[in-house]
Amino acid sequence: MSEKAVVPCPICKQPSEFFAEPVGPFCSNRCKMVDFGKWMNEEYVISEPLRPDHFEDLDDLDMEGPNAPRYM
Ligand SMILES: [Zn+2]
Repeated sequence: MSEKAVVPCPICKQPSEFFAEPVGPFCSNRCKMVDFGKWMNEEYVISEPLRPDHFEDLDDLDMEGPNAPRYM
């Protein structure tokens, strides 16, 4: 049995060794970033733009308790 798993890169279809690269199953960091960009684009499409009424809920946040949001 071979320990090498050759799979086509999901982005450019170029065969690469799955475990040979830290970016596997992608052949390169570039292709990994391309795939990552696709996800980000989808997220951008489905997310609605911020409107002022979105911030009305902020009054309900617990600003003192252990679950209070922390800002850098
Ligand atoms: Zn690739």
